[in-house]
Amino acid sequence: MGTVLGYLRPHGVRVACGVTVKFTAALLELVLPLLLEHIVDVSVPARDLTAIWFCGGIMAALAFGAAFCNITANRMAAWVSMEVTRKLRGDLYNRTQRLSCTQMDRFSTSSLVSRLTNDTYNVHQMFDKVQRGGIRAPMLVLGGLVLTFLLEPALAAVQLAVSLLTFLTIWQVTRRGIPHYAAAQEAGDTVVRIIRENASGVRVVKALACQGRERQRFGEASEAARRAEETAGCVMAAANPLTDLLLNTGLVLVVLVGALRVNAGQMPPGQIVAFLSYFTLIQTATLGIAKVFIRISKGAASARRIEEILLEPADQPLRPSEAASEAELGMDGVSFSYLGVERDLADVTFSLGRGETLGVLGPTGSGKSTLAALLMRLYDAGEGVVWLGGRDVNAVPREERRFGVVFQNEALLNDSVYENISFLRNIPREDVIAAAKTAQAWDFIQALPEGLDSRLDIRGANLSGGQRQRLLAARALAGRPAVLVMDNADSALDYATAAALRAAIRRDCPGVTLVVISERVASLRRADRILVLEDGRVTAQGTHEELLEHCARYRHIAELQRGVLL
Ligand code: ADP
Ligand code: MG
Repeated sequence: MGTVLGYLRPHGVRVACGVTVKFTAALLELVLPLLLEHIVDVSVPARDLTAIWFCGGIMAALAFGAAFCNITANRMAAWVSMEVTRKLRGDLYNRTQRLSCTQMDRFSTSSLVSRLTNDTYNVHQMFDKVQRGGIRAPMLVLGGLVLTFLLEPALAAVQLAVSLLTFLTIWQVTRRGIPHYAAAQEAGDTVVRIIRENASGVRVVKALACQGRERQRFGEASEAARRAEETAGCVMAAANPLTDLLLNTGLVLVVLVGALRVNAGQMPPGQIVAFLSYFTLIQTATLGIAKVFIRISKGAASARRIEEILLEPADQPLRPSEAASEAELGMDGVSFSYLGVERDLADVTFSLGRGETLGVLGPTGSGKSTLAALLMRLYDAGEGVVWLGGRDVNAVPREERRFGVVFQNEALLNDSVYENISFLRNIPREDVIAAAKTAQAWDFIQALPEGLDSRLDIRGANLSGGQRQRLLAARALAGRPAVLVMDNADSALDYATAAALRAAIRRDCPGVTLVVISERVASLRRADRILVLEDGRVTAQGTHEELLEHCARYRHIAELQRGVLL
């Protein structure tokens, strides 16, 4: 937990001030019952009204002083926890952004999201509660016990016993309850996930007429969440009534034992009043300590999950290398495996000159997107060398890798068309318009109610699939890339638009090296080099004409798509 605790360090002075103020407030609160006892045992029997008013006045002043101190300290604590959490969340977010794809795969997106939200919240709560109660509560308990032992050891012993019992009860009940709450939280997450999947896949669900099954899946998850909540609720239901019972029993015992001792002349009656006050104070503080402990145990678990990300060593360092190649883009005996089990890409070799076009053809799962990911160094090749601009890609700094990429299922932002194309790069509007024109998107953008400033729905739901693909192409082009990767980027375009897009790229972006991944021969036929991928292996490569002549599989696919075999 050291790293997360380190975030408190810059606020050390403020925390120390807050704690001192809390300490003062606790002292003031501890004096109150003593004054009460004095009034009952000294001033009242002496019928000394002045002393009664005087003591009463001091008590009121102390009470106000304590409240003031506590409010001030709580505000300071809240400020510190907010600041610490803001910084922590920011750092965590930045670190998450810099995780490599391999690390992302390992942690999983949903776990990263919950670390950024739930876990930072838990750490916030821990810092807040510890500052508010971490000093005050133990001090009230300890101070209260010491003072009462000085006053009347027998009654103090009763008090100590009941307080210990209260602490153990709360501790046990919550310790049992927490795992159930964690389970309830998980079950709730599942419900949210199903709702999200169903909402985003609503067309498929309706088209395949599987609403019934979806409803059942949702019903089961919802029932599981209810059961988990119920169990957690049942366990925790005991907490408050049990502590109330212990408080009341304690009060009765104090009065009873106190009365017996007063009767026997062993203590003045005012001490019973003082003890009742102390007892309530100690009891509340005991509950406070238990709550602080619970917050710490939850917060520490979350802090560890956050630290896992913060302390994750940087992946994919720059590896200087003198190796050089003629190729602008290429691979030399590259193999790669996502999970280290089977090879998702095996012994791929090709080479491409500047401004040339690479076509990649292959069935789904054959490794086309993996090949593109390795070219962009989203993953590191297990064996072999990836060439970029004549250098080993591992030696090329990130800023120098000028890629533009259109993935198949890329996200559109719930923002204006301009922002979606510029994509946080502050690209001038003329360049955005030029990119949109090349991407064959300008006509439909102009037809939108507010042109470039029209707002897109979440995931671009108010656009057709082809319009989305053209916007994404415009986004990739707007950065003036040196290498443009189009992964199935024309699957939703008709043949004429797809051809116009390719021609426009060649016309408007001279010198750009193109990687076109497609399942359509028509999209690749003009490429300078076409790779035919199967099961991660290149089974043939060459130009369209060469492949038609030598590769039976390529010829078969081409004929199928031309309709010759239909
Ligand atoms: P294509 O783009 O040709 O459809 P991919 O390159 O996406 O194929 O996938 C190639 C193989 O790698 C598939 O078997 C796929 O299951 C696997 N794969 C893809 N991405 C991952 C990943 N992030 N983790 C593990 N395996 C993956
Ligand atoms: Mg793919």
